[in-house]
Amino acid sequence: MYLKLIVIELKSTMDQKYKKIVMKFGGTSMADMDCISKVADHIERELSNGTLIAVVVSAMAGETDRLISLADQAGNNMQQSERDVIISTGEQVSSAILSMILNRRNIDARSIQGWQIPLITRGIHGSARISNVKSNHLENLMKNGIVPIIAGFQGISEENRVTTLGRGGSDTTAVAIACGIHADLCDIYTDVDGVYTSDPRIIPVAQKMKHISFEEMLEMASQGAKVLQTRSVELAMSYNMPIRVRSTFIENDFENNTNSTNIGTVVTNEDGILEDKVVSGIAYSKSEAKVTIQQLEDKPGVAAEIFGNLADNGINVDMIVQNISADGMHTDLTFTVQETDLSSAKLVIESLSNTIKYAKLEESKDIAKLSIIGVGMRSHAGVAAQMFSVLAENAINIQAITTSEIKISVLIELKHIEKAMKALHSAYKLDQN
Ligand code: ADP
Ligand code: ASP
Ligand code: MG
Repeated sequence: MYLKLIVIELKSTMDQKYKKIVMKFGGTSMADMDCISKVADHIERELSNGTLIAVVVSAMAGETDRLISLADQAGNNMQQSERDVIISTGEQVSSAILSMILNRRNIDARSIQGWQIPLITRGIHGSARISNVKSNHLENLMKNGIVPIIAGFQGISEENRVTTLGRGGSDTTAVAIACGIHADLCDIYTDVDGVYTSDPRIIPVAQKMKHISFEEMLEMASQGAKVLQTRSVELAMSYNMPIRVRSTFIENDFENNTNSTNIGTVVTNEDGILEDKVVSGIAYSKSEAKVTIQQLEDKPGVAAEIFGNLADNGINVDMIVQNISADGMHTDLTFTVQETDLSSAKLVIESLSNTIKYAKLEESKDIAKLSIIGVGMRSHAGVAAQMFSVLAENAINIQAITTSEIKISVLIELKHIEKAMKALHSAYKLDQN
């Protein structure tokens, strides 16, 4: 019995040891020289702990937006490959700045761009997907005591062109590097000290979670909680790479505490939900737009024609609602797309006027999507009913609904989003720790 206890204790201590980690610093962490100096402090702390590290950085806050508008002024949608060359430079700059600051502190660090790793991608420019990370070069640097400071968000295609991974893509770079070098953990440093039950900027009483499962985090991220890019969570889940979300600023975190269990939020394959909580988080998105095709001909093949053509044009459709036809001949079809895809979606529908007949095409950007997420939904009935009655009590009309096993999303008027989030946050007892 005594021996068994010692073994268990030893094992749990060992489980906490992180010997090799990736440290990723987001845009707000790289915003200016003062912030970058805090980033350098964290790196110095890890090195003094004897941890092997690779660092991934984002562009300085606001820089990618500036580069995107510059690219928009210079070119058009047909020039996506040159656009990627422009918008990837934010990370090139920040990786070199951090390396210089570390060098000044006598830390051997070197900036590495996506093509130098190389981090190989496939798929379309602007949202390329990582197909391979060659880790030899990085591992050699690390073995020789050189800290690689990797430019996030960028890679190189099979055609030898610079690519980018979509907004927030440095998170995905960090997880891919962590998997490539077989790190024990991927630390994501940002401006919040963990993943909260809802966006703390909207719900000040939101609670920090100690743990969250990959599954729940994936739903939170894909429904709008941009604290992690959705694809980074997908990747971490397939390779079982734990992610820890933590703050560069808020925590007084400069002691020898890499292995402390109190830092940030750990995203793992453990089921992080508390037993009494059916819903563990609430996410929202204001970036979708709604399209309604009124009096659409109701016959086989129409939906396939519409959604097939939208897909062929790279337009992702999220929610779909089709009314039952009252006269057996016509129906209304409503769907949502990303706001940035709205004009292309309308062009696609209009271009089908020879094959599909309808009375009117309507659009609205005045909407928001609200989602409640929790693995507890699997074993509890009545979650949707409670959500709908809370919205009804607040006189908020539901325009569309989608569900998965652990998520319910509703489309509502944009002006109601904060009221709805606050009401649901308290109805599901997320305000309490
Ligand atoms: P970075 O620049 O470090 O990549 P992001 O702005 O991409 O940072 O992500 C951090 C932001 O995510 C926070 O400032 C917060 O407003 C937002 N956020 C949205 N939902 C959540 C949530 N559930 N928990 C924590 N932060 C969230
Ligand atoms: N700089 C890129 C962006 O702003 C990537 C990132 O920050 O993760 O989207
Ligand atoms: Mg981010």
